[in-house]
Amino acid sequence: MVENFDSQLAAQQEPLKKALVELVRIPSVCNEGAGGFPFGAPIDQALRKALQIAGELGFKTQYGDGGYYGFAEIGEGVEMLGILGHLDVVPPGKLKDWNRDPFDPVEKDGFLYGRGTQDDKGPLLASLFAVKALLDAGVKFNKRVRFIFGTDEETLWRCINRYKEKEETPALGFSPDARFPLIYAEKGLLQLNLEGQNQTDLRLSGGSAFNAVPDMMFYDGVLQEELASKLDDLGFAYEWKEDGIEVKGKAAHAMIPEEGINAIARLCIALRSVGVESKAVNFIAREVGEDPNATRIFGDCNDAPSGKLKFNIGLINLGEKEQISIDSRIPVTVSKEEIVKKLKAAAAAYGLEYKEFDWLPPLYLPKDHPVIETLMKVYHQVSGDKVSQPIALGGATYARAFNNCVAFGPLFPDELLTEHEPNERLVLENLFRAMKIYAHAIYQLTR
Ligand SMILES: [Zn+2]
Repeated sequence: MVENFDSQLAAQQEPLKKALVELVRIPSVCNEGAGGFPFGAPIDQALRKALQIAGELGFKTQYGDGGYYGFAEIGEGVEMLGILGHLDVVPPGKLKDWNRDPFDPVEKDGFLYGRGTQDDKGPLLASLFAVKALLDAGVKFNKRVRFIFGTDEETLWRCINRYKEKEETPALGFSPDARFPLIYAEKGLLQLNLEGQNQTDLRLSGGSAFNAVPDMMFYDGVLQEELASKLDDLGFAYEWKEDGIEVKGKAAHAMIPEEGINAIARLCIALRSVGVESKAVNFIAREVGEDPNATRIFGDCNDAPSGKLKFNIGLINLGEKEQISIDSRIPVTVSKEEIVKKLKAAAAAYGLEYKEFDWLPPLYLPKDHPVIETLMKVYHQVSGDKVSQPIALGGATYARAFNNCVAFGPLFPDELLTEHEPNERLVLENLFRAMKIYAHAIYQLTR
């Protein structure tokens, strides 16, 4: 690649960092409808801030449809390159697990800490400032470049769905919200509830989101002594609290549940062994247990492009009704109907009814697709990593919202994934490397 934007990119490092700190300071967790905004005031504030930053860099900006989305565009041309990212973040979880305030970003030992640094404010801004570097280098774009800012990615994608109804569809694009080199296959994402009447006195509630492995569960019922001794037998970590028992787990993203420890599953396994008979407890303990692939229900479900089916019990609520909230990632070539059928049958045996909450169809682009060929070439040349190949992920990015779109960066193959976890952080040096790759990619995709 002959083009060299190094000095213009270097000049954007400090402004990028400053903008990122400002954006991470806004605690943009979904709080539906609060303050008269679709997803709450902080998300609206983050959207306005991102539009302001883009406006100052020279983009034309638009605040979309009462705050469902926004976009920022630059350049000329009939075709449009879309770059899709999101400004909402998942809740920080328990503050005591953080070494610092999740919304007061601190730079330490080359890292920038804070909720949203990796997912997705850092990468979104890195691609935005990459365009600024290209502009400063005198590059003229032969396509329009449009950043599409989503506000509801971590929950229901109502933002991007609204965008698709009302606005122009990009001809091609990428979403800087995963890993390098790029993601060409993303599993189908099914979120669902299993529900039934609660015929017991058991009251329980816990977990933080469909897509997070729950890292603790609290039990304050009458069987505390028995439960503690069973937890000892099982080797499950727990802690006595003033009014009950806290079962320990380990947080992880639901696309990699095998890297976490599911506290809901552990509590249910133990509760069932001390004789508790609730529909939800029985279902979890007997049909799923600690198996992140729910093999008992689905068998050995996997395919070559995208690997195994993943199954995460994210939330449980036993009140008048029993409800279990589940996030499952389905291999790209497996039919959703087949999975739903098996799950319905397994749940029905416990008196639980299947209720779909959300479904995102899979992403699957052939490896010789022009967008993939261009981005792979850029990645190999600019990063110096000539060996990494396109990958399949269980994660869901906006890439699947549009045709001809893949997820591209920002994490390097050896880089630690900390999104959705306490002490989320990014390596600033890698963010700057990602900015350089994005600059070359945007340059090539707009020729
Ligand atoms: Zn994300």
